[in-house]
Amino acid sequence: MRTILLIYTGGTIGMIKDPQSGELRSFDFAYVYDHVPELARLNINLKSISLPKPIDSSEITQEHWKNLAQIIVENYEVYDGFVVLHGSDTMAFTSSALSFMLQGLKKPIIFTGSQLPIGTIRTDGKENLITAIEIAAAFDEKTSEAIVQEVAVYFEYSLYRGNRCSKISANQFEAFESPNYPSLAVAGVNIEYLKDRLFRTKKSALTVQSSFSNQIALIKLFPGIPFELYKDLFNINNTKAVVIETYGTGNAPSSAILQALISAYISKGGLVLNVTQCSSGSVKHGAYQTSAFFQKVGVISANDLTTEAALTKLQYLYGQNLSIDEVKKQVTTSLVGEMLD
Ligand code: ASP
Repeated sequence: MRTILLIYTGGTIGMIKDPQSGELRSFDFAYVYDHVPELARLNINLKSISLPKPIDSSEITQEHWKNLAQIIVENYEVYDGFVVLHGSDTMAFTSSALSFMLQGLKKPIIFTGSQLPIGTIRTDGKENLITAIEIAAAFDEKTSEAIVQEVAVYFEYSLYRGNRCSKISANQFEAFESPNYPSLAVAGVNIEYLKDRLFRTKKSALTVQSSFSNQIALIKLFPGIPFELYKDLFNINNTKAVVIETYGTGNAPSSAILQALISAYISKGGLVLNVTQCSSGSVKHGAYQTSAFFQKVGVISANDLTTEAALTKLQYLYGQNLSIDEVKKQVTTSLVGEMLD
């Protein structure tokens, strides 16, 4: 029998309505468990653990990521797989962060949650939870190895790579998409795994890296953006790297202020990473004149990274004492299947 550890962090799945305010707030894990008696009928040895204080995932911090990684590492040898119940709002950030922190995985870490609390009649939480557990327990009969050996997100019949997906809907059950990398599995009558899409590590053992930089910033371009308001952001003493969300294939207005800020920042050792605002496709410097400047001054193309993966990857890379050249090398290399190589 496979052994799976269920880690409850909070999120809508376990929330109940506050009788006074009518607001949804996080509740006890026992509440989730009580609403899914089917769990006892799965032929899986299921154990659970909860964060001391379950949270709405908007409250998630790097400290929570460390706690989560620590729980997984401490239990790594004992369990065949892990299911993390997490609010959907920041799930793609946490799944991306965990994919960078825990490299060399041979076991699945499946994130799931729901759009409706588990106690509501039309909840999507039951199916998400039960199937996520089945995926975490799935193994190859010949080798006994886990089928999924990476951090993934299961939501509404699809399994996505954790560092490739984004939350795209605030109210549809199909809340996630992974436009630049296809689903790893689709759950219908059977769960169909797309085996050639699954990540396989080249590392021989699990490695854990739990330090993050909190000096990474994000700017999203919009027409009329007053770049002078961002001057303090491009200060190398405060900010190690800036992710800039640009238009289309990586284009920006030819603003003298922006160009001066970026040139000075990079010459002082800052890193600027260009991600596209589009939900699919990738950055290609020099495709238009409006991105030629970026190429000239050494802005780095994030290729087809999601913003969630770009930010967490930089937080992770700058959390280690790497040289700027090493950061630049790793940021443009796929570490755990997060981008096209
Ligand atoms: N606000 C909730 C959260 O992210 C939404 C959800 O769980 O889907 O915790």
